[in-house]
Amino acid sequence: MLDWSDPRHAPAAAPIPPTEATGLGTIDRGGARVSVDDKRMINCRADVNQLLPLKYKWAWEKYLAACNNHWMPTEVSMQADIALWKSRDGLTEDERRMVKRNLGFFAASESLVANNIVLAIYRHLTNPECRQYLLRQAFEEAVHTHTFQYIVESLGLDEGELFNMYREVPSITDKAAWALKHTQGIENASFATGTPEADQAFLRDLVAFYVIFEGMWFYTGFAQILALGRRNKMVGIAEQYQYILRDESIHLNFGIDVINQIKAENPHLWTKAFQEEIRTMLREAAELEAAYGRDTMPRGFLGLNAALCEQYMHFIANRRCGQLGLMPVFPEADNPFPWMSEAMDLKKEKNFFETRVIDYQSGGALAWD
Ligand code: MN
Ligand code: FE
Repeated sequence: MLDWSDPRHAPAAAPIPPTEATGLGTIDRGGARVSVDDKRMINCRADVNQLLPLKYKWAWEKYLAACNNHWMPTEVSMQADIALWKSRDGLTEDERRMVKRNLGFFAASESLVANNIVLAIYRHLTNPECRQYLLRQAFEEAVHTHTFQYIVESLGLDEGELFNMYREVPSITDKAAWALKHTQGIENASFATGTPEADQAFLRDLVAFYVIFEGMWFYTGFAQILALGRRNKMVGIAEQYQYILRDESIHLNFGIDVINQIKAENPHLWTKAFQEEIRTMLREAAELEAAYGRDTMPRGFLGLNAALCEQYMHFIANRRCGQLGLMPVFPEADNPFPWMSEAMDLKKEKNFFETRVIDYQSGGALAWD
């Protein structure tokens, strides 16, 4: 009997021309209408330019949820942060180092994530409702990058130092380079999905960016800034990070759903060997993050230190394994930052949005009169 979990014995699907996958093939004049059952996540033969009929409701729901969460960094007041940053004894040297390296990590990372969506993922994901979400997510990454521009400008930080940190601080470079190799592997014109090897490369990229970059590394970054915020330090940045965290938790969950749906439609890709490879990626990623923790926090403060951040990464990595249907990669670890779940609640949300609607109306009237 053939082992269908081995990609060498996968049912032979004739590869589809790359222009069909992207949606740039010649228009099929009067062709048969697309039915729900024709739709697939990757290597789809149906017209990728037709949103309806919807097949993957989870993707459409995430698009709607993301639109409901719309925010702009400039809506958050930076006055308290500016006063604290400029006062001589407002923050310790350790706190300042962490804030700057944290901002430096995120400032470039948002662009790397955006590049991966636009240059790599979008082309190969052959489903219009997923693409609809990707378009929204790409804009959110622009809003996040805007946030770091706004913070640099508000606090009068050295923009060269912050935006070059991903090339100048080794533990940040290591993370960026580790993720970038996955984008590089699938963005070139000669890459096409449709073979087990190529489809697995696409899955690796999804894991690297959704599960690891956004779903693991960003979480230490959120914990660092929110730890300051809950002690009433840098409350403007902390509020912005809460909104970024809310966006990122949808990005992560979208990525998990995409990966699991591709698995369900292509079980031959999810071999034992490939599962082990993904688990190794998560383990390596946690080690890279531990190095970043030591670089940003050589000494502990405010209930944070490098060892706790490493424990947090073990806890998060095991959770991500569970979400992908994999065995945990670390011995069972407790969450050292249980307050992170409260940070995601956003109790101020109602007031925030009430003010915003009024601001937008007056802003719109000025701009369009
Ligand atoms: Mn982002
Ligand atoms: Fe994101």
